[in-house]
Amino acid sequence: MLYSEPSVASKFTQLVPVRITDLPSAQPLFGLSRPELAARLVEAGEPAWRGQQLAHALYRQRNQSVVEISTFSKELRERLIARGWEVGRPRIAQVFQSVDGTERYLVAGRGVDAGVSPDTVETVWMPEGDDGESGDGSGYENAAESEISEAGKRRSRATICVSSQVGCAVNCQFCLTAKLGLQRNLSAGEIAGQVVAVLDRQKVEIGRDRVNLVFMGMGEPFLNYDNFMAAVRLLVEEVGLSPQRMTVSTSGIVPGILRFAAEPAEVRPKLAISLNAPNDTVRSEIMPINRKWSIEAVVAAVRTVKLRPRERITFEYVLLAGVTDKPEHAREVARLVRRSGLPVKVNLIAWNPGPGIPYALPEASAVDGFRRSLAGEGVPVYLRRPRGRDIFAACGQLKMTVEG
Ligand code: SAH
Ligand code: SF4
Repeated sequence: MLYSEPSVASKFTQLVPVRITDLPSAQPLFGLSRPELAARLVEAGEPAWRGQQLAHALYRQRNQSVVEISTFSKELRERLIARGWEVGRPRIAQVFQSVDGTERYLVAGRGVDAGVSPDTVETVWMPEGDDGESGDGSGYENAAESEISEAGKRRSRATICVSSQVGCAVNCQFCLTAKLGLQRNLSAGEIAGQVVAVLDRQKVEIGRDRVNLVFMGMGEPFLNYDNFMAAVRLLVEEVGLSPQRMTVSTSGIVPGILRFAAEPAEVRPKLAISLNAPNDTVRSEIMPINRKWSIEAVVAAVRTVKLRPRERITFEYVLLAGVTDKPEHAREVARLVRRSGLPVKVNLIAWNPGPGIPYALPEASAVDGFRRSLAGEGVPVYLRRPRGRDIFAACGQLKMTVEG
């Protein structure tokens, strides 16, 4: 074991063999799974069962530094700190507040302090959700919740929108994030860390308050699959959030959908597909990824997901004036939904504008007509309310990160 007492180490720093992984620049603890934490502890000469205490401290008690870990003796905490151990949880570096109560955060990792750029990601808190995803997504839950107090109701609809990458490689023509290109993947700790940082800021108590998570921030989660799912497992197994209150949205990455279908129900979030167009011709135009995986290929992959009772697949549909919002498009979408044979609900999103994006806002009458048309055809349909447009927090508006 390459350990020396801190007092000795400080006198003979140059003589003490230090492992690279023990330096402060080593991987932070936050983001490690319970077995990984146990392995780190064993390396430090501690019993493996302390991994459970450490996981509890990091993810349940949301301790932000090793000093705070009350289940460890003072001596042990000091020893670990001397080895360079640190929690290294992402922190909220900047807050933008919308008139509608939405907050957009720039969440910074340790790289910011070290001058690594880009190292901030965007996370959004919507205190009342956006009517897109709530609870089991059936929409019926809202009705039951109208019985409870305003405050309670608001709490149960609160939604955190989480990023999975800095930028995005998918290049959807209507999305501001696409303009960044892919800067980098986020680690599991950086993905789960956004959630935990917001839970802390909003004083959310697991068990008392209910929050929904939507993986619909910056990036394509299924192009960062391993880190995304590792984050989900931490959020479910350690933080204590329910996967049935989480929704992951994909632009239709078929290999990712197939892997997702194989995840056990205990850790599998609900699935949303960014359909956004009534047919392959329009979709290929606005989402070039459709040339690789067509609507039919995506639907076939989605069919392999074993849904829970009452669970529905969400089709997100961005309304672009003149491009995707015509009455015949609505009829085509209804046919597509029927043909898919899937239990689907459609989330309509009026396009949120962004600088340099050559589309136009749909007319209110077109949005309403589209919704009525789908509802008339028996398709469950919801209109997602734009949240935080004034602070660039709405869908597809996340990109200010790099500019700072
Ligand atoms: N990359 C994933 C998840 C993030 S995007 C995906 O594409 O599914 C989340 C949702 O925002 C997607 O459904 C996307 O179609 C939508 N979106 C992107 N840009 C938008 C914009 N400018 N206005 C409205 N919705 C937008
Ligand atoms: Fe990426 Fe989603 Fe934006 Fe498409 S809509 S560019 S997949 S973030």
